[in-house]
This record gives sequence, structure tokens and C-alpha cells, in this order.
Amino acid sequence: MKLLISLAIALFLCEHSSLVTCSIGDRSMVYRNCLNRFERENCTDNGVLFKSNTQYKQDYWSRVLQWSCRDECRYQCMWVTVDVFHKNGDDTPKFHGKWPFIRMFGMQEPASAFASILNLAANAYMFKQLQQLRISKANLKPFVIFWKMFAMVCMNAWVWSTIFHMRDTDFTEFMDYACALSMVMGLLVAAIVRVFYMRNKVMMLVALSLPVFYFVMHVRYLYSGFINYDYNMKVNVFFGALGSVIWLVLSWHQWTLRRRYAWRMMAFTLLSGAALSLELFDFPPRHGVWDAHALWHLSTAPLPVLFYSYVIADLRYVASSELDKFAFKMT
Ligand SMILES: [Zn+2]
Repeated sequence: MKLLISLAIALFLCEHSSLVTCSIGDRSMVYRNCLNRFERENCTDNGVLFKSNTQYKQDYWSRVLQWSCRDECRYQCMWVTVDVFHKNGDDTPKFHGKWPFIRMFGMQEPASAFASILNLAANAYMFKQLQQLRISKANLKPFVIFWKMFAMVCMNAWVWSTIFHMRDTDFTEFMDYACALSMVMGLLVAAIVRVFYMRNKVMMLVALSLPVFYFVMHVRYLYSGFINYDYNMKVNVFFGALGSVIWLVLSWHQWTLRRRYAWRMMAFTLLSGAALSLELFDFPPRHGVWDAHALWHLSTAPLPVLFYSYVIADLRYVASSELDKFAFKMT
């Protein structure tokens, strides 16, 4: 009876609550029966701790990353259910909106976490290159500082991406989404600053106000916890595309003015767009770890090298100018 009641409650939540994401896997009876038995045998009433007499041995890294007893039950029952689906000739199901991933060293999505670390390393390496850049022109120094701050925003975003893919909680999800948008907005802000800096500061501030205002509003929305993932994706794609178009037009214009280094920005923009198309695919993780999202993160890892080498070459070009007015070079 207790089992039937809990199943009825779970199904009701699946159908009617925006807080619970349900998928074929977690809706199946195999999964629900397994979860009920596993929790009853191993967990205390709150589902967080293990019973003192449990036979279940949690591994060291899962303990470090604070996986609760209920999380462990979900993980074990997920694989039991996947086995049953496969034995019946069915496709790998999703659970709570996610594909089943093999946990490694306590990490929930090890491939995405690993690829995020590679992105972080690439940004950190290029940040160091930026720091070694010597620009003597006083009017360019705030612009160089801006680029360093931009690199810090990107590094911060990849730190949170790594943490989120290691361990998905409401807070790490919020930080990953908010910081990912900060990077996308950063690219748009950088394009606006690159176009208007010292040319027309009033225009620059007017153009910056919309993305900055929207960013603050969207972060507030993400913090509410009631996230429409489709809408969030559309916001990222819209601002990402807007920034990319400005960079593409600017770098193409520079290319026509025989500034050969501009190819790097054109290549960066086009390759970033191509890499993003991986997000359109949705397939079960290969070898239990590599899904489309992880491959997307992996494919973007070398791109900061192209991007910052453009930034450095562009700064050198502007700094080498004989003209006092930087504005003449801002095209
Ligand atoms: Zn990610």
C-alpha cells in the first residue's frame, strides 16, 4: 500500500510539478520498485544518510562529493533499469531529464567536467600571454585591462562548468548557467567596446546598457529556480549570435584592410558556431561518458588560443599606430 501511495505521489509530481523533471527511465516500474526497495534497505528516513547496518559501501570520492544515500540508490537503480531496457531490446532511457552517465571519481558527468577543465586551461594559458603583453600607450591601458577582465570572466565560467558537471545541484546549476551567460554577454560587450572605445563613449555606454540590464534580469530569473531550459538556451543563442555577427563583420572589414591577423577572429567565430551545432544532437553517452554536450565542450577547448591570439595581434596593431587618436584605428 505504502509503495502504491509513493508511486502515485511520484507520478502526480511528474505530471504536475515544474520542479520535478521526469523521463521514461524514472517513470518505469522497474526503476520505481528498485528505488523503493533500495531506499528502504539502505537509507535513513530523510534519505540523506546511510543506515548503520547497511551493506552498501559508498566509494571514497562519492563521499567527498557529498552524494546522499538517495542519490546512490537512484544511481544504482538507474543502471539496473538500463540493463532491463537493453535486455528487452529497448533504447537507453533518460532519467530525470538526463542520460545515464558512469560516475568516475565521484564526478557525475566526467567527460564534460574533463572538457571544461581543458577550456579553463586554454583560457588560463592565454590569460598569461595577455599579461606578458607590454603596451606603452596610456590610452590603450584601460582596453588591455578590459581584456584581462574578460579572460577572468571566462575562467570563472569554466570553473563553474567543471563544478556543475562534477556535481549537479540547484546552486551549481545556477552558477553554471549564470556564468555561461556572463561569457556569452562578455563576447558581445567586448565587440561593442572594440567598435566604440574612444570613438564615441556615449554610444558605447548606450549600446552596453541593454545587454548589461538583460544579464542582470536573466540572472535574477535563473536564481528563482523555475528555469525554462528552452528559453535559457534561446537567450544564450540570441546574444551569442549577436556578438558573433558583430565580430565577424568587424574582422572581415579588418581583413579587407589587409590586417591578416583578422582571420583568427573569423575562424574563431565560425568554429564556435559549428561547435555549438553539436548541442542539437541528443544521443546516449558513448562508453557511458561522451554525450553531445561533452563533445561540444571538448571541441571548444582549443578555440581560446585563436581568440586571444587575435586580441593580442589587434592590440599590437593599434599600439603600433603612429596616429595619436586611437579612434582612427578603431575599425
Ligand atoms: Zn556544460
